[in-house]
Amino acid sequence: MEEIHIGHQDHKLVPKNYKKPYTCDGCKEPGIGSRHRCECEDCDYDLHKHCLFYKSTTCHDFFTNSAFKFLLHPPGQDERWCDGCGKLVRGFVYHCKEKGWDLHPCCMNLPNKLKVDNIKFKLRDNVLKKCFWCKRKRLEGSVSGIRGWSYVSKCDRYHFHVNCASEMMLQGWKNEPCSNSDYNDYNDQTAPDSLALALENLELPVQGRFRGNGGDKFIRIVKMFFKVFVGILLGDPFTITLTCLAELIR
Ligand SMILES: [Zn+2]
Ligand SMILES: [Zn+2]
Ligand SMILES: [Zn+2]
Ligand SMILES: [Zn+2]
Repeated sequence: MEEIHIGHQDHKLVPKNYKKPYTCDGCKEPGIGSRHRCECEDCDYDLHKHCLFYKSTTCHDFFTNSAFKFLLHPPGQDERWCDGCGKLVRGFVYHCKEKGWDLHPCCMNLPNKLKVDNIKFKLRDNVLKKCFWCKRKRLEGSVSGIRGWSYVSKCDRYHFHVNCASEMMLQGWKNEPCSNSDYNDYNDQTAPDSLALALENLELPVQGRFRGNGGDKFIRIVKMFFKVFVGILLGDPFTITLTCLAELIR
């Protein structure tokens, strides 16, 4: 089960499941729950699943006919932003040299199309409605000119920035009653899924118009979507239990 990664060659990384959120030492983006961690505690080195099991070259359905190469650092001297979530690239990245596109390893894993409880979602980089979470069309603080992806439902009711997923995840974790009990180390077999817990505790920014008529269904879909979405983003094993609810449409 242990792995060696080119970004941390001297020690072995082992799968762990801690409640506390972490920052991935590969891509420098947040994560929660399961991770691969260096055996040597002094290192304090954690990686997302997608950052550990990278592909040296790959492609994404959103960018047809574009090959991406895995790099340990963003290329060149200039700052680079992820074309998926719109955030700064500070570590591991998939880079398309020809077109100049960049994707975080976790963002690379997001499917172009996704079906949750019979509602079809598609990645878009131009959205006409506000994101459910941040209530904005444009990403907050976006200076890069990169708009970032959103998942938009075919019925046009549901809009979520990819960028807002980690925010939702961390917010849910903060709302959990025992969130400040540091590094609880769970036995991997019996671990209560910290990501699932975090999302259960998520207080959704629900406004009056979602209440009543069809509102319950709306909230149910939103919660289910978040779980599937964040699970795929982080490569969390609990998404396996959700495969009956969600289908990746290739
Ligand atoms: Zn990572
Ligand atoms: Zn180490
Ligand atoms: Zn990204
Ligand atoms: Zn948003």
